[in-house]
Amino acid sequence: MVAPAFLTEPARETPIGGDYEVVVLGGGPAGIAAAAAAAGKGRKTLLLERYGFLGGMGTAAGVTNFCGLHANVFGDIKQVVHGVADDLLARIDRLGGLNEPHLVLGKTHAQAYDTAAYKIAADDLLLSLGVDILFHALAVGVVMDEEARLRALMVETKSGRMAMLGRVFIDCSGDGDLAAFAGARYEKGDMLYPSMMFRLNNVDPDKAGEAWKTVPALMQEAERRGETFPRKGAILRPQKHTTEWRVNVTQVKSADGRAVDGTDARELSAGEIDGRKQARAFFDFLKREAPGFSDAYIVDIPPQLGIRETRRIIGLATLTADDVTTCADFTDTVGVNGWPLEMHVAGDVVWRWPDIPGSRGYNQLPYRMLLPTALDGRAFDNLMVAGRCASMTHEGQSAARVSGACFVMGEAAGTAAHLSLAGNTACADIAVPKLQQTLERGGVFLGLTAT
Ligand SMILES: Cc1cc2nc3c(=O)[nH]c(=O)nc-3n(C[C@H](O)[C@H](O)[C@H](O)COP(=O)(O)OP(=O)(O)OC[C@H]3O[C@@H](n4cnc5c(N)ncnc54)[C@H](O)[C@@H]3O)c2cc1C
Repeated sequence: MVAPAFLTEPARETPIGGDYEVVVLGGGPAGIAAAAAAAGKGRKTLLLERYGFLGGMGTAAGVTNFCGLHANVFGDIKQVVHGVADDLLARIDRLGGLNEPHLVLGKTHAQAYDTAAYKIAADDLLLSLGVDILFHALAVGVVMDEEARLRALMVETKSGRMAMLGRVFIDCSGDGDLAAFAGARYEKGDMLYPSMMFRLNNVDPDKAGEAWKTVPALMQEAERRGETFPRKGAILRPQKHTTEWRVNVTQVKSADGRAVDGTDARELSAGEIDGRKQARAFFDFLKREAPGFSDAYIVDIPPQLGIRETRRIIGLATLTADDVTTCADFTDTVGVNGWPLEMHVAGDVVWRWPDIPGSRGYNQLPYRMLLPTALDGRAFDNLMVAGRCASMTHEGQSAARVSGACFVMGEAAGTAAHLSLAGNTACADIAVPKLQQTLERGGVFLGLTAT
């Protein structure tokens, strides 16, 4: 007998879990900034997160490094992302968990952090602003009021299924789950390859030296002897405590060689296992071949495989590769992205930068990329999307997916939610100059002057 493909569940009454002005899905950099911005303006705000901690890929996937806070502005490396990000970074620093910025490929800065400090600092930030945080809550669907208006986000928790009512919803799930549930248009074609990050401890930092330069050469030598690696190059860097290093070197494929799809449960399961295998294999290589690593051990393989890209929601405007490389302007700018294209393609990482030092090194990010569209091409009344699933092409996303731009998008969406509620208007109809003034008053750099 052929097993049926579907099972009809009985209808059921779902309890209302809460009634909020702003509901934010996802506690990564975009969600943290969105919730902080909305609650900071006095809005009754809920943040829902499937894990028991905040930080998104930054903690759950062990990224441990902020990119995109800085840009190379005509040859000078400057911080261009401020606002909520400044508050969060100051809190991480006060916990002793923030490195000084380090140079990336001689062109810009990134800044490493301890995941434990990030989690605590993000809790403190959101609680200080009165955000209601519900952890261990997996969003599974929506209930619509009308075709383009959401009424509730459905979540599954240990206490059962609940409906979270809201007036404005912000999708910061990274995968665009909420927007997809609501029927927003999205793309999911070529995807950047995921990586399983891991961290080592008991590294001898003096012997390891600038291992991020020497280890790729050791890998090339090993390849000449017939060894293979999942991708070229290796990003190995010390954390705040210099015996602890993060390693970004794996690349996880599906059975047919494509990037593992982070929205496919079975591919994701296989990817987690393969990622851990790759981490173990590279650790063995480092122990054997790299000075300073012989006594190291794996201190952490994070809770999940690092997913760089899945759904990209189609919004009223879409950020492209050209926008990034030509440092584009938009009249509805809500902040900037200073990170280049960083394409995790099969077996390699390909970078494309704006002109250095001939350009200001950052592009503006338009408000319209946060406004998802329904099948008829029109924006939803009360839905925004921020972070790596916002409206970008595959290449544009390879740049503005990093933490800096996600903080910017989140802060803009949270602030726009407040203005939409204040004016009783659809998110797409708020006064953009008012949004820009409010963001600037909160310390956001809109990119209107060369810093
Ligand atoms: C391996 C790797 C290395 C990277 N390296 C860097 C780096 O060095 N520097 C840098 O700045 N960026 C780096 N990035 C990119 C960066 O970490 C992410 O793009 C960024 O975190 C995206 O932020 P976000 O808030 O949009 O989404 P995410 O960080 O993905 O956060 C989304 C959150 O939503 C939650 N969520 C998702 N779906 C649901 C649901 N249905 N219900 C409830 N909760 C849900 C998730 O648990 C998560 O907490 C890296 C990414 C990867 C994968």
